[in-house]
Amino acid sequence: MRIDLHTHSTASDGTEAPAQVLRSAAEAGLDLIALTDHDTTRGWDEAADVVGETGVALVRGIEISCERGSTSVHLLGYLTDPAAPGLTGEIDRARASRVTRLERMVRLMEEAGLPISYAEVLASVPDGATPGRPHIADALVSKGVVSHRDEAFARWLSNDSRFYVSHYTPDPVRAVELVVEAGGVAVMAHPFTQSPGRQTSDDLIAEMAAAGLAGVEVWHRDNDEVGRERGLALADRLGLLVTGSSDYHGEGKRNRLGENVTAATVFDEIEHRSSGVTPVLRP
Ligand code: AMP
Ligand code: FE
Ligand code: FE
Ligand code: ZN
Repeated sequence: MRIDLHTHSTASDGTEAPAQVLRSAAEAGLDLIALTDHDTTRGWDEAADVVGETGVALVRGIEISCERGSTSVHLLGYLTDPAAPGLTGEIDRARASRVTRLERMVRLMEEAGLPISYAEVLASVPDGATPGRPHIADALVSKGVVSHRDEAFARWLSNDSRFYVSHYTPDPVRAVELVVEAGGVAVMAHPFTQSPGRQTSDDLIAEMAAAGLAGVEVWHRDNDEVGRERGLALADRLGLLVTGSSDYHGEGKRNRLGENVTAATVFDEIEHRSSGVTPVLRP
């Protein structure tokens, strides 16, 4: 079994439609993937429709952007009930706030003389997608200002950029509670990403574990060797599962499907711990 538990589609900042992500997963030789778009579940139905055709099993997931002070945390939620009011309310609020935030960032960039308009950025956001900084990057790529999203992030879009504007986010401990309340299983994404605003403390992870966090995504390209060791030690100490995944964004990131995978025994445990309201879809 080859299992990749973290992928994005055009429902957020991936560049492939949900059905195409499953087709790409089949080509990459994967047996099961989780679709984990940022702050939305809107890609689930389209992905579910091609499970039979592709032969790739689907875990309906989500990646929730959270903040504690200046620390940014991404929380993966698996097999949550899409009708659970607590979680739904928070992600709806986050998406609404992301719209105004995107406009504010683009205005600041425009005022500084960058060749970008809000209309151009809106044109790069797929219909109904969760808007994010990658869509600003896409508008800059379309105009030929930069050649890849990476370059736009390095120059203007990082968390410590002068153009950065935050949006509404739940607290990470609250987000864990909401995932659990929704019958799902919570795993902290790329816990040791070495970028500004990402210095998660062991104490915060312990607090999340006490709230019901089930695992940490140790096998992810954004965790360096030191981070991986730290993740394994924390998992051991706190009794957390260890997952691995690609964080595929189509052409939007260099990450390739299946470049990191999760052990079948670990995934079995994730499935077992969910309430079963949202089943794993098997071909
Ligand atoms: P936002 O959701 O608006 O806070 O933007 C964060 C998203 O930007 C993350 O989900 C990443 O997928 C994406 N991102 C961050 N850094 C880069 C980069 N260097 N290249 C491409 N995408 C990036
Ligand atoms: Fe992303
Ligand atoms: Fe993330
Ligand atoms: Zn992600």
